Amino acid sequence: MKKCGYFFLAIVFPPTILHAGDCDATQIAEIDLAMGRTGVLADQARVSLPTDSGAVTAGYTKWFGAYSDARRDHLRFVFSQIKVTTTAGTREYFCYHDSESYCTSPYTDAWVENDQPYKIHFCASFFQLSTVDQDPLMIHELSHFLENGGADASATSADGHHCSNANSCEMLAGSDPEKSVRAANLIEFYVRDL
Ligand SMILES: [Zn+2]
Repeated sequence: MKKCGYFFLAIVFPPTILHAGDCDATQIAEIDLAMGRTGVLADQARVSLPTDSGAVTAGYTKWFGAYSDARRDHLRFVFSQIKVTTTAGTREYFCYHDSESYCTSPYTDAWVENDQPYKIHFCASFFQLSTVDQDPLMIHELSHFLENGGADASATSADGHHCSNANSCEMLAGSDPEKSVRAANLIEFYVRDL
């Protein structure tokens, strides 16, 4: 039934991709390729999740802490929604020079506003990344949208994330699994390890 519903939706509302900002044709082509790979990665991540408490992997425990069916279900939802975002619906791309907007930070290659689906902002530095880095970053960005689970929507840290690097994120997973499945950096670290 679900598949029929989706098929129906795809027929009535064909995916619309609006390209805005100053993305040039080369950038748009590269983003589209990244979207395609990200959809594959989201599927891979969804099926990698434990089926039950007896099937928990080291990677799951490392990045998401103590297992529960409810938290696993939340992650399934996140990865499913990310896949949908890469294949259907309206996306809008914005491209910036590294001297513009949030791109002046050396740590920012892309960003989104979680309540503005599905506008994705790319710094010039994004296009310097290898695909090994682009794809997990896309998973990260798409996980922020409220429709996709709203990772870090309640974060109060200065950079807007529940944790900022591998060490602090791993500690968060150990101490607060509820928050860790709702942290974009942890979702990113998990898919990087797949
Ligand atoms: Zn983020």
